Amino acid sequence: MADSFDVIVIGGGPAGYPAAIRAGQNKLSVACIDQWRNRDGSYAFGGTCLNAGCIPSKALLESSELYVRAREEFAAHGIKVADVGFDVAQMQKRKAGIVKTSTQGITALFKASGVTALQGHGKLLPGRRVQFTAADGTQRELTAKHVILASGSAPAELKVAPFKAPHIIDSWGALDLPSVPKRLGVIGAGVIGLELGSVWRRLGSEVTVLEALPDFLAIADQQLAKEAARHFKKQGLDIRLGAKVSAAKVSGDAVEVSYEDAQGTHSLTVDRLIVAAGRRPFTADLLADGTGVTLDDRGFIQVDEHCRTAAEGVWAVGDCVRGPMLAHKGKEEGVMVADLIAGHYGEVNYKAIPSVIYTAPEIAWVGLTEEQVKSSGRPYKVGVFPFLASGRARAMEQAQGFAKIIAAQDDDEILGVHIIGPMAGELIAEAVLAMEFSASSEDLQRTIHAHPTLSEALHEAALAADKRAIDSINR
Ligand code: FAD
Ligand code: AMP
Repeated sequence: MADSFDVIVIGGGPAGYPAAIRAGQNKLSVACIDQWRNRDGSYAFGGTCLNAGCIPSKALLESSELYVRAREEFAAHGIKVADVGFDVAQMQKRKAGIVKTSTQGITALFKASGVTALQGHGKLLPGRRVQFTAADGTQRELTAKHVILASGSAPAELKVAPFKAPHIIDSWGALDLPSVPKRLGVIGAGVIGLELGSVWRRLGSEVTVLEALPDFLAIADQQLAKEAARHFKKQGLDIRLGAKVSAAKVSGDAVEVSYEDAQGTHSLTVDRLIVAAGRRPFTADLLADGTGVTLDDRGFIQVDEHCRTAAEGVWAVGDCVRGPMLAHKGKEEGVMVADLIAGHYGEVNYKAIPSVIYTAPEIAWVGLTEEQVKSSGRPYKVGVFPFLASGRARAMEQAQGFAKIIAAQDDDEILGVHIIGPMAGELIAEAVLAMEFSASSEDLQRTIHAHPTLSEALHEAALAADKRAIDSINR
C-alpha cells in the first residue's frame, strides 16, 4: 500500500466517508481512516450515524410505531388481530441486521471508488503527515496533499449524572436496551431524547423527560412545538420543562434523580436513565502539537465557510465543526471539500438544511421559524394547512398536524416551512428544493401536486399564505 495520498480522511462517518468517495470519484488517490468499533470489538465504517445514531434509532422507531398502530389503529381499518404483542430481542436483531448491511455497504462503495480503507486510529502530525495506528498497535506514517478531519462527536456526559451502565446510559446504550424498563428517565427533550423516549414509551415504559429549558423544542417554530407537545402528552410522555437535573445516582437496581424547577427540588426514581443532554465535538488524540489546526472554546475545530481550518491543506467537516450536528449537513460538507480539492465548484447552503424529528407525528422544518422572521422585522405572511383536510392523510388514519409556510410579504420569497404530520421528514424535501431554487410561495402554488397525496398539504399551505386555499377555510 502507498504511504502517500492526494487526500487522507480521518473519520469514516457520514461526513468522512462521502468525502472519501467523492475524492475517489474525482480521480484523487484517497485513504479513509476510521476507528469505530462495535461492542464486540469489530471495526465498522459509518460512524455514529450508521452504528449508533440515525439508522438504529429509525429501525426501532419504525418497529415500535408499527406495534402501536397495529394495537390502536388496525380496528379502525377493520383489521382484526388477536393479541398484538412484541419481542424486543427480534426488534434488536432486525436493527442489528440493518446496521450491518449499511456499514458493509460503505466498504463496497469504497472499493468501487478506489478508496483505501484503513481501520484504526489517525492522528494529524505537522506538515500534513498522518500517523496511522492499526488494531495490532503497529504504526505507519502517511503523507497527503490534503487532510480532511471528520472525527465527529460523542454524547455529552453530565457531571451531575455520570454514565454508569447499565443504569445511567447514553443514546447508544438506550438503543441497545435488551428489555423495556418499567420506569425510564430521559435527561434532555432535544431530538435524541424525544426519539428514544418515544421508542420505549410505545413499548410500555413510563417515560419522564426532564428538560432544563422552560420552552419545549425551543429550536423549532413554536406553533409546531405546541402541536407536538399536545401529541406527546396524549401518548403518555411526561415532559417536565424548566426541570434541571442536579444529581443522579444508582441505588440498587434503580436510579435516584434529583432535579430543580421553579417550585424547588424534586426527586424521581427510575429503572434506567438516558442522558440525552447534547453532544460534544470529538477530537481526542486527533491533533499532534504544531499542526496549526485550532479549536474554539467549545472544542469545535475552527473552519471557514468552506471548511478550511487554519492549517494549509487541512479541512474539517461534520459534527466536529460548527453548525447543526446532522448527518446530511456533514455529508454535504464532505462532498464540498472533496470537490474543492479537485478544483471543482463546491458550496453548502447552510440556510437550507432540513431538520427532522422522527416521532409520531413526525416533525420537519427548513429555514426560519415564525419567531425568527418576526424578530428580523421583515413583513411576512403565513399559510397553514391541517392534515385533517387531507384526503390521503385521512385514508392513512394519520390526519394529524399541519403544514405551515412562511413567505416574505414584499417579494413572496419562502422563508421557512414547518411540517408536523405523517411523513413530514419526506415532505420537507420539496420545501428544501424550493428554497434552494429561491422559489416564491406562488411557485409552489402553481406547481401541480398529485391527488390525493400528502404533498398537497404543502401546496395548500402555499395557497393559504395568500388566502387562496381550496381545500381548507382561509383565515
Ligand atoms: P460521526 O458519525 O461521529 O463519525 C466520526 C467517525 O470518526 C467515527 O467513526 C469515529 O470513530 C471516527 N474517528 C474519530 N476520531 C478518529 C481518529 N482520530 N482516527 C480514526 N477515526 C476517528 N442525524 C441526522 O441527520 N438524522 C438523524 O436521524 C439522526 N439521528 C441520530 C440519533 C442518535 C441516537 C444520535 C446519537 C445521533 C443522530 N444524528 C442524526 C446525528 C448524526 O449521527 C451525526 O450528525 C453524524 O453521525 C455526524 O457525522 P460525522 O461523520 O461528523 O461524525
Ligand atoms: P440537544 O442538544 O438538542 O440534543 O438537547 C439536549 C437537551 O438537554 C437541551 O435541551 C438541554 O437544555 C438539556 N439539558 C442539558 N443539561 C440538562 C440538565 N442537567 N437537566 C435537564 N436538561 C438538560
